[in-house]
Amino acid sequence: MIKIKSLVMLTAVALVGIVGSIVAVNIGRSAPVAVVASKPVVAAPKALDQDPELVVAMQRLGLDYSKLNLRYNDTVVRDGTSGVFIGDAILISKSVPPNKLDRLISHEYIHYIQSTNPDTAKAFYPYLEGLATNDAWLHNRLKNYYNGSVNVCSDTGCDIAAEAQAYACTEMPDYALSPDFVMFCNKWLPQRYSLFN
Ligand SMILES: [Zn+2]
Repeated sequence: MIKIKSLVMLTAVALVGIVGSIVAVNIGRSAPVAVVASKPVVAAPKALDQDPELVVAMQRLGLDYSKLNLRYNDTVVRDGTSGVFIGDAILISKSVPPNKLDRLISHEYIHYIQSTNPDTAKAFYPYLEGLATNDAWLHNRLKNYYNGSVNVCSDTGCDIAAEAQAYACTEMPDYALSPDFVMFCNKWLPQRYSLFN
């Protein structure tokens, strides 16, 4: 009898202990939540580093540069290239002649579009692989990529179609391209025809 009685008491103590700990946990959790709710932590937006001269060029070309870093850089840009799109930045070599700046920026901007709108851009990759093989001018333009002297791997992948897309939009006339691909180029490069003047 005594044994049973003390067992019941022990069980009761254990239950109180469990309930007590649940209450304690609830109190412990609710207090910091209230603090967080009253003082929300909002990360400050990261300031973009945009060279004023390159901003003027983006405006002239009607391009959306609201999320892009735009810098002159001769450290990253080398090995036969004059510009690069990397991460969230378009980097341009200081050695680029003024009359080639718009075309180069437009080329790198197409790489930016490949990263921000991959489905739209990649839908043309099979077409562009064929164009890069069959169009003599484009094939020659890509020779540094075919022979490996320029690394085609970037944030947007290792596909030569990505390079073909950037060159075709910025250096090839409409008549050498399919109508729907011309529409793609003109959509993202609203001043595209100024590149051919
Ligand atoms: Zn490129």
